[in-house]
Amino acid sequence: MASALTEKLTRLVKEMRGQARITEANVQDMLREVRMALLEADVALPVVRDFVARVKDKALGQEVMGSLKPGQTLVGIVNKELAATMGEGVADINLAAQPPAVILMAGLQGAGKTTTTAKLAKHLIEKRKKKVLTVSGDVYRPAAIEQLKTVTKQAGAEWFPSTPDQKPRDIALAALDHARRHYFDVLLVDTAGRLAVDEVLMQEIRDLHAAIKPVETLFVVDAMQGQDAVNTARAFKEALPLTGIVLTKLDGDSRGGAALSVRQITGAPIKFAGVSEKIDGLEVFDAERHAGRILGMGDIVALVEQVSAGVDMEAAQKLAAKVKSGDGFDLNDFLGQLQQMKQMGGLSSFMDKLPSELSAKAGQVDLDRAERDVRRKEGIICSMTALERRKPELIKATRKKRIAAGAGVQVQEVNRLLKEFEQMQEMMKKMKGGGLMKMMKKMGG
Ligand code: GDP
Repeated sequence: MASALTEKLTRLVKEMRGQARITEANVQDMLREVRMALLEADVALPVVRDFVARVKDKALGQEVMGSLKPGQTLVGIVNKELAATMGEGVADINLAAQPPAVILMAGLQGAGKTTTTAKLAKHLIEKRKKKVLTVSGDVYRPAAIEQLKTVTKQAGAEWFPSTPDQKPRDIALAALDHARRHYFDVLLVDTAGRLAVDEVLMQEIRDLHAAIKPVETLFVVDAMQGQDAVNTARAFKEALPLTGIVLTKLDGDSRGGAALSVRQITGAPIKFAGVSEKIDGLEVFDAERHAGRILGMGDIVALVEQVSAGVDMEAAQKLAAKVKSGDGFDLNDFLGQLQQMKQMGGLSSFMDKLPSELSAKAGQVDLDRAERDVRRKEGIICSMTALERRKPELIKATRKKRIAAGAGVQVQEVNRLLKEFEQMQEMMKKMKGGGLMKMMKKMGG
């Protein structure tokens, strides 16, 4: 997900390049951006403060690892800390109980409890090969009981009937008894919806919990709730010993900051994510992927990985051998070079490290324009035939016109590219294989 944050961090990363250590001064700018991004993603303010303080502690004075630059190290720290805050590893559902394992679903009305109950039933049937029974304790809305019946059927599980004149506690105990007698592995108990935190209903679910002693008490929360999720989570945590969280509606356009808040406030692991209205729209929660979503910095993480992986040494070696053996440097190689530049985190880092004869002008170049330029050049080369790429000398007026039309550019641009290619070819000849390898190595570092 590209975002303003990605751009800002990229710029900061570029500015920090060359500094040997993360310092209080350079960390401050970056943390300001991270703080803004978390607030934009609807993470609650106290949670943001805590988080930023932890990142700062970790970042300050940390030596730069390997070939990573400080800005990139910091991005790595932010991402790792975010993922760690939201949970480590996979927290699957706990069924370690004398069967039937009872799972209690708690949350506000509309959070997605009933839908999630059915999704979970399906998950347990398919992935864990369990025999699953569901029951609704929502005696206030007959429609809710019917809804559970319908979705349970879709999930391929069994449903235990209940009626609005019963007490939720009695319903649950009857269902438990039925589950025991019929050898069900799991009993999923859906509960009454609350539009807001309501003391009477909280007491009811507390009693229900005491009666059925669930092995899992899952708090179902709507990711779109944003800041409000904090108050709801706090109230449910105070009422019940929560063992896990299900974050629903992550297919919406929220950045999912609620995950961080809810996790921090309840201390319970986020076990699942709801990603569609459909019965199979449930995923095991992936903290690392979610960290990227919150900060909108998937690109940055990818950039860090690419820079740390360095250049494609194999491709560089092949190219070097080619130049050395006198096979010539053709437009395919030129294209390869353009693509390598992109891989290494953009033109700026490439230009920093180019031999002085080429980088003399680099300081005056508008980098964004230069990046666009690279893409146009790629487009031009891709509009050439294989033969033309191998033998650029064939490219005369008619071919130029055709290539320009194919790439959607003016003929002058094709001329400019060919000229640049010739200059590069000249340089390659001068440098020979050894020089090229050295240059590539330097750029990878
Ligand atoms: P409950 O009142 O907590 O039982 O909530 P429901 O299960 O009835 O869900 C409320 C609404 O949210 C329904 O329209 C569901 O289809 C929808 N819903 C639940 N989970 C998801 C989800 O992960 N993604 C999307 N898009 N919609 C969901």
